[in-house]
Amino acid sequence: MSYQIAIDGPAGAGKSTIAKKVAKIKEFIYVDTGAMYRAMAYFLLSSHVDPKDGKAVESACAGADITIQYRNGEQVVLLNGENVNGVIRTEEVGNMASITSQNHKVRERLTVLQKELAAKNNVVMDGRDIGTCVLPGADVKVYLTASARVRAQRRWDELTAKGVSCDIKQIEEDIVKRDQQDMNREIAPLKQAPDAVLIDSSSMTIGEVVQAILDLCK
Ligand code: C5P
Repeated sequence: MSYQIAIDGPAGAGKSTIAKKVAKIKEFIYVDTGAMYRAMAYFLLSSHVDPKDGKAVESACAGADITIQYRNGEQVVLLNGENVNGVIRTEEVGNMASITSQNHKVRERLTVLQKELAAKNNVVMDGRDIGTCVLPGADVKVYLTASARVRAQRRWDELTAKGVSCDIKQIEEDIVKRDQQDMNREIAPLKQAPDAVLIDSSSMTIGEVVQAILDLCK
């Protein structure tokens, strides 16, 4: 049986930073499920599919073959055989992913892949529905959150460090909108699993959050 650590939470809570560090220490693989939803959104954007047209999303998503590979310990998302890691991190793709991830066919396809990865490997998997739907029997479940202000500030810091000019107010608005979409959708909404441990990282360091999760694994 594989060991499974599930980390869910809203956009910008620091899930991927924390999950990567925990995975490295535990020597587990890190599965970033948001990247899979982003790859699907990127495909639909490139195919000029209207994200609000459920039927169009459903039929178009069958043309997206999404797989995961690990190269030098890094997760590489392949979309129809092409590495899309470099193009899925934009706000545009994230906002599209939040709409297209509401579609049940999109979720069905990606959930199967996520379950397969977790059945074969010890994993730290992060997303929105990991503890509730993808890995309901996970050994450790964490719901990682932080205030919208703190999350917007962190994203702003990250983007400006990369030389991208951005408006913190706009980022905060996008974050709040994305939270609302993710929490209120019909299928697999973002919510804390009853047996998940809540960690509010608003005034915690990365090291403190990582340690808190490692302690839960003992
Ligand atoms: O985590 P990230 O910001 O990369 O996720 C992008 C979007 O993908 C989220 O806003 C959410 O709508 C969707 N997602 C999801 N289920 C997951 C992971 C991500 O619906 N397990």
